[in-house]
Amino acid sequence: MSGPTSPHFRIVPVADGVWGAVATDEGFGLCNSGIVDLGDVTVVFDSMLTPQAGADLRAAAERLTGHPVGYLVNSHWHGDHVRGNISFPSVRIVSTRTVRELIETRAVTALESERESVPSELAAIRAPGATLPTRDRTVFEGWFEGILATPKGTVIPAPDLLVEGELVLRGPRREVRVVTFGGGHSPSDVLAYVPDLRVGFLGDLLAIGFHPSVTDGIAAAWVRILDSVRGLPIERILPGHGPLGGLREVGEMQEYLRTLGRLAAAAPRTPEGRRALAATEVPERFGSWTFRPFFLENLLSVYDKLGAGTAPVATGSSAPGGP
Ligand SMILES: [Zn+2]
Repeated sequence: MSGPTSPHFRIVPVADGVWGAVATDEGFGLCNSGIVDLGDVTVVFDSMLTPQAGADLRAAAERLTGHPVGYLVNSHWHGDHVRGNISFPSVRIVSTRTVRELIETRAVTALESERESVPSELAAIRAPGATLPTRDRTVFEGWFEGILATPKGTVIPAPDLLVEGELVLRGPRREVRVVTFGGGHSPSDVLAYVPDLRVGFLGDLLAIGFHPSVTDGIAAAWVRILDSVRGLPIERILPGHGPLGGLREVGEMQEYLRTLGRLAAAAPRTPEGRRALAATEVPERFGSWTFRPFFLENLLSVYDKLGAGTAPVATGSSAPGGP
């Protein structure tokens, strides 16, 4: 039997009864999703960028497991992780109270404002002389086209099953633990893991081969959250963006975030210092990562927050709504 297919993701077996839906570069999924068979119902982790990708994801999950989706976990409020929620009617949506509030207050308006801004951003990356690496261009085009393909008036159902600390979703075959350690990548981040199979789903707390986005979060808090992640019983990890990985990549993400902190702290707190920082080259070890334009945005965001206290503020990056 051939597995389910979609232009928006490819299915990657992770363990017995666990799959990753890894976003294709050109599709309308943008983020990765996880699928876990509890034995009676299915858990899906993150719903992708568009209702179209979400619908394919739900169909794939139910076909792979033979069980209806009973729970959808939202790792955080960013659009590429929650706009597929609409394709999961009558499914309990699990996340924190903060994520619920951000979806109710910001996620829908973010979609509408992105619909306005995306045509000019698409024109910019397609302009003669645009310098984006080829893969970046493909991924950004898929992202922006996905926003334009999202039906007007799309609502984003908000979480209705709230987690504080930890919530266990238990079925006859296994359990999934849904956990929050607070906010690092965003004001509130949720992860999930399957203890008996040592599999974790980290949302955007981990990106592999992609620059993460730090502009809506706090790099230092993020590093501490990843310290907590290293204490969990997990080995194989599905990141929010990029291929399957493990704790080695968690360490790399921490090093990336610490590098931002070091570079930002070393820059003089003057307009000239900020200007010089804005000309920083992407360090060699992160040079091949996709979402290359995020590096300078991240660096300046960390620099600006050094002087402005550390309360997480949900500011959109110039790239719409996260990721
Ligand atoms: Zn995100």
